[in-house]
Order: sequence, then structure tokens, then C-alpha cells
Amino acid sequence: MTIDISDLVRPSVKRLKPFSSARAEYEGSAEVFLDANENPFDSTFNRYPDPFQKSLKEVISSLKNVSSSNIFLGNGSDEIIDIIVRTFCEPRKDRVRYIHPSFGMYEVVADINDVLKKSIPLGSEFKLSKEICTSDQTEIDKILFLCSPNNPTGNSLPKDDLLDIISDFKGIVVVDEAYIDFSEEESLIKDLDQYPNLIILQTLSKAYGAAGLRIGMAFASEKIISYLNKIKPPYNIGTVTQNLAESLLKDSAKAIKEIDIIKSERQRIFQVLADMKVVKKIYPSDANFFLIQFENALKVLKYLQGQDIIVRDRSKLPGCEECLRVTIGTPEENDRLLQVLKKYTYAESTVY
Ligand SMILES: *Cc1c(COP(=O)(O)O)cnc(C)c1O
Repeated sequence: MTIDISDLVRPSVKRLKPFSSARAEYEGSAEVFLDANENPFDSTFNRYPDPFQKSLKEVISSLKNVSSSNIFLGNGSDEIIDIIVRTFCEPRKDRVRYIHPSFGMYEVVADINDVLKKSIPLGSEFKLSKEICTSDQTEIDKILFLCSPNNPTGNSLPKDDLLDIISDFKGIVVVDEAYIDFSEEESLIKDLDQYPNLIILQTLSKAYGAAGLRIGMAFASEKIISYLNKIKPPYNIGTVTQNLAESLLKDSAKAIKEIDIIKSERQRIFQVLADMKVVKKIYPSDANFFLIQFENALKVLKYLQGQDIIVRDRSKLPGCEECLRVTIGTPEENDRLLQVLKKYTYAESTVY
């Protein structure tokens, strides 16, 4: 089956004559620029940024082995998720599907844009059933959000399953790979050519240590990228951010070293945590955090807060009863967490 992406796009977006910025209309170099109402006196920031981030995309292109024309950049993945929903979903008419529990933004963005929702429950051990993803699909089901490795559960969805789902789903499939650099599974980037309805999301916020920069990356067919470009805010990424992201990515040695440390810490603390009395269950993780079930999650959360250690309560999510999400820190931070948790075990066992 071949999908015509244009058939999935909102009619208003297809019809849209996009805003044309000065820097998009004239891309060459010149000595005198009098076309954008900028302040002419030279300073670091007096000019508008490149609206299509060409220089940064070239660096990403060679790093990820994807053509620049298959890359879209956003002010964080959050902005990209919103732009994707607005490109394809007609408010009050179209629907997005997303796995649950997963990253909260899929549902929030659907609500903000007033589009219909269908959550797809993960099964035991947070496994995904291929069949539920595509069952009863109608033409209102424009987008399916998947996340692998999944936040907050930590597991990866098997690559073969993902590819089957992307083939079967008659709409856009977004695979959020925010944690892929920590994973033993391969990115789907290599498969992009085969799947015109696939959007892969990655970010500089996690493995690359640049959450404060706000750079999200989408990889997709040229057709999809051209629609995302059509509706994005003209200058969505500032000059400083583009420049810093570029130098960060040119020197990826630092990130690679840190990812290695985080992965070895993941292995080191898993068994220690698993053997603790206070830990009821710890889920294996392919990411930089653990989902951990306790006897009483809120009590542990408060206890850790009292020790100046902040972790995330995830206990209200389905299948995550009494669970906290704990990010893997530096070796020193992890030692402190383990020490503090060990004391909690001792305190509890003396009480009972
Ligand atoms: C953290 C996270 C993001 C956030 O990305 P930003 O680029 O910081 O907006 C996206 N997806 C998932 C699954 C995340 O956990």
C-alpha cells in the first residue's frame, strides 16, 4: 500500500500560502541588507537567524547520515510534536493515537489542538501489541505516537514490530527516539527511505546534555518535511542556539564519553537497587532512568526529598502503581542515592 502524504494533510494547511520571511526570499550573501527592518549597526544579534538552519542541518546530516532535506528542527521536540499535530489533524474531527503510559506531551498537544484521542494501553511488562495500534483504524486516525525506548517505562519496542506497525498504519507514525543514544536497539533512521509515513524524533535534551538549548530533530520523507516547514514559525530557532548546537555536535566526543558512563552506571546500580528490600520491582531500562516500584512510593519520594534528592512520581499512570522514575546521575550522585535508600530500608525494618 502506498500512502499519499498530501491526502493526510489538513485542507487549510494544503491551501495555505505560507508567510515568506525576508531571509527565506533572499538567501544569498550581500554587502548591504536593507530588507528585514533590522537595526543596521553591527552587533552579534542584529540580524535574523537562518530560518532553515542550513549550517546546523549539514552537521546533523553527516552525523546521522541523512540528507538535510529529510531534517526538520524545532525549539525542542515539544514544538515539533505540536507542529505535526497541527499539520495533519483537523480540530474536533481527526484523531491521534498514542501509547500509554508514555510521554505526556502527545496527549497534551492533542488537547491543546482540540483533536480526538485514543490511547493504546501497553500490556504486561509494558509490551506493545501490534494489533491494537492499527485496529479499527478509520480515516480520522491521522497520527500514531510511539516512543522507544519508552518514557517512563524504559523499555524499547522491538524494531520488527515498529516496522510492521508503520507498514500497516494508514497515517503518520511518529517514533519518538529521545533516548535512542542510550539504547542497545538501532534507530529507525536507516529505514527512513522505505517508510514515507514515518517521522522519527530525536533531541539534544537527553544524551547530548543540552536540554537548556531547546533543539529537537525530526527525520522524515521530504514531503512531510516540506509540510512541517510550511507552517513552522519563520525564525523558530535563534542564532545563538543554532551556533551552540553546531559546535556541540561537531565535538560529540564529550557526549559519547558521558553516554558510556551513564550506560555503565545503569548496569552498576540496577543490581544494587534490585537487591534492596525497599525496592519491590525495578524494570530493566534501555534509557537513562529506571522505573522502580516501591511498597509506598509517596513515602519514598518524600523521604528522598528530605535527603535533598528529587525523583519523579509516576504512580498515577496505569501499570505504574507505586512507581517512581529515577534518572541515572553521575557516579557520585548514584552512590548517594543508593546510600540514602539503604538507610531507608534499615529504618523501615527496625520499625516493623
Ligand atoms: C524528554 C523527552 C522529550 C523532550 O524533548 P525536548 O526536545 O526537550 O522538547 C521528547 N520525548 C520524550 C519521550 C522525552 O522523554
